Amino acid sequence: MSMLLHACCGPCSMYPQSFLQDEGITYDMLWFNPNIHPEFEWNRRHENLQKAADHFGVRLISEGECMEDYWRGKTYLDEFGSRCAMCYDVRMDFAARYAAENGYDSFTTTLLVSPYQNHDLIAEVCRNKADKYGVGFSYFDFRPGFRQGQNMARDIGLYRQKYCGCIFSLEESDFKDKIIRSFNS
Ligand code: SF4
Repeated sequence: MSMLLHACCGPCSMYPQSFLQDEGITYDMLWFNPNIHPEFEWNRRHENLQKAADHFGVRLISEGECMEDYWRGKTYLDEFGSRCAMCYDVRMDFAARYAAENGYDSFTTTLLVSPYQNHDLIAEVCRNKADKYGVGFSYFDFRPGFRQGQNMARDIGLYRQKYCGCIFSLEESDFKDKIIRSFNS
């Protein structure tokens, strides 16, 4: 079985990777997260996902770029109802299409590990994209392993971010000033 694991960041990939490897499931990882802003953070999370891939001996496919202007300019409320619905749609559309065009049996995402995301909406978007592109969607509720995964990330020294990713979530973060200082350190 060949699976494509879309990954949002290193820490969130740790438990899903551990789970898939324990289950004997073969997978490649895909980085496609244009929602991560600003550029410094996009690079930082990408680099840390590479470390997580290396830790498990897995291939990381890297696609896309930081798209802060797109997020700022998108009239997502009309089309999607919320910026997060738009965010899931953009990322899962790419992941499903990439999986279909590159011969994977199915795809899934590390977004399904987070208790802070809209889990049911992510699964619904994934199912719709799987139908759209004619590829399987492998649903897992990774959430029970979230804390374990974060601890695994800490143990191997991964950077663990304090905001979801987009420029709006940064502006809303209680840690905004500290995060912005870290961009210049
Ligand atoms: S808060 Fe998170 S899920 Fe929502 S749009 Fe921003 S990065 Fe995407």
